[in-house]
Amino acid sequence: MKFTVRPSRFPSPLKASLLRSSYPRRHYSFFNFDNARPQYDRPLSSRHELEDKVPWLASQPLHQLSLADLVKHGRPPLSAEALLSSARFTLSLLPIRLAHRIQALRNLPYIVVSNPNISRIYNNYQHSLSTLLPWQGKTISTLEDEIKFTQVLAELVQTHTDTIPVLAKGFIECRKYISPQEVTRFLDEHLRARIGTRLVAEQHIALHYSSTPHFDPEASPTPCPEPDTHPSYIGVIDTALRPVNIIDSCGGFVADICELNYGVRPEWIVDGEPDATFAFVPMHLEYIVTELLKNAFRATVENGMSREPVVVTIAPEPASGGPASAATPGIYSDCPSKPSNEGKAHEIIPLHDHAPGVTIRIRDRGGGINPAVLPHIWGYSFTTFNEADEPPGAWGEEAMGLISTTGVGGSTIAGLGYGLPLSRAYAEYFGGGIAVQSLYGWGTDVYLRLKGVGKIE
Ligand code: ADP
Ligand code: MG
Repeated sequence: MKFTVRPSRFPSPLKASLLRSSYPRRHYSFFNFDNARPQYDRPLSSRHELEDKVPWLASQPLHQLSLADLVKHGRPPLSAEALLSSARFTLSLLPIRLAHRIQALRNLPYIVVSNPNISRIYNNYQHSLSTLLPWQGKTISTLEDEIKFTQVLAELVQTHTDTIPVLAKGFIECRKYISPQEVTRFLDEHLRARIGTRLVAEQHIALHYSSTPHFDPEASPTPCPEPDTHPSYIGVIDTALRPVNIIDSCGGFVADICELNYGVRPEWIVDGEPDATFAFVPMHLEYIVTELLKNAFRATVENGMSREPVVVTIAPEPASGGPASAATPGIYSDCPSKPSNEGKAHEIIPLHDHAPGVTIRIRDRGGGINPAVLPHIWGYSFTTFNEADEPPGAWGEEAMGLISTTGVGGSTIAGLGYGLPLSRAYAEYFGGGIAVQSLYGWGTDVYLRLKGVGKIE
């Protein structure tokens, strides 16, 4: 089956505002907190408490989460007890995770942590931990407690939304004081840990909203503008995700950016099995597909091949298995390239009607990657994008406000140099991966392999 997607055009005066709204934000609309700015004027006692607790919390082992952990509280119909138990589970993890990050930031050279951008992130982490500390030692046992706790989580998620562009800017400013290898080591660990921390918080927030019938809507932390009407969702996981939908919506968004940057709107074709479904976290797939399409579209346009569509092939993994399904499904890890299998695999029963995993190949005619460039493409901050081409304000607050839902990317076509390494971190989080195959002088194939989440019965 083969079909061409012809993205709709809209009049140019509308483009900028549409760019803001066309990015697929539907899964996160519940994070819109107006008053979620961090307050740093905490009383001295709470600062002391923080100082006391960080080393102890950071010495606690990180619980290696499995997807089973994430979905086990969310099986519909969601009972009040399951929701409370999800809140308690979330609370048991987050302070330790935040303290590990604070400790890692403290271990950077002092001059690096003193950089205004990096210290902003450091302060955000300290602030978030300080909002959770009062909950420690308490048992979340009433729905009123759960509402207040969800409010804290929503603020936490909001506080850390722009971490990535801020850190990226900070590390560029500190180039003189820290080696690229140290930056990569720090960022790889930090950004992978961030994926897990956000996921844990977002999962509970999503479960909270999917259980709104338990609540007085007046008392709920934020009104949920789009109640979860998808029966296939368990929190932030879509157990029947159609990659083609995400490819098309992200393709439209990236084509808009191209039109703004280059005045050209590349096209894309989806082939293979566009009807394939699998269980995955849509916001992760949106991030990865957006970044890979940005690279493919940019190369296509810059290579003067805009009339050649980018071809996206969806290949579901056969349910009977194959080499890819030999790996433990649905287990994720904070460790780079080392998916953990903490013995939770027995809890996961693969979905029978959905593929256990999907491979998506993105093929462009953008001229491929120069062999001299190829060894560097996975490095954070590595880019061949010419800064002179960067739209004005690309590093300014404006760009930071336009960051994607996962906190990086924005409406620029390229230039941060985080697209590939961070996409790989997202893909590997659930045991998948990304491989880049360049045919220099012709084009590039990117293979995005994703493991489905599976489902607990
Ligand atoms: P950025 O897009 O911000 O430069 P990425 O991490 O996404 O950062 O990509 C790093 C570099 O890899 C790009 O600058 C480009 O040189 C190269 N690259 C990635 N994908 C492609 C592609 N499809 N075709 C050609 N070059 C690519
Ligand atoms: Mg890129």
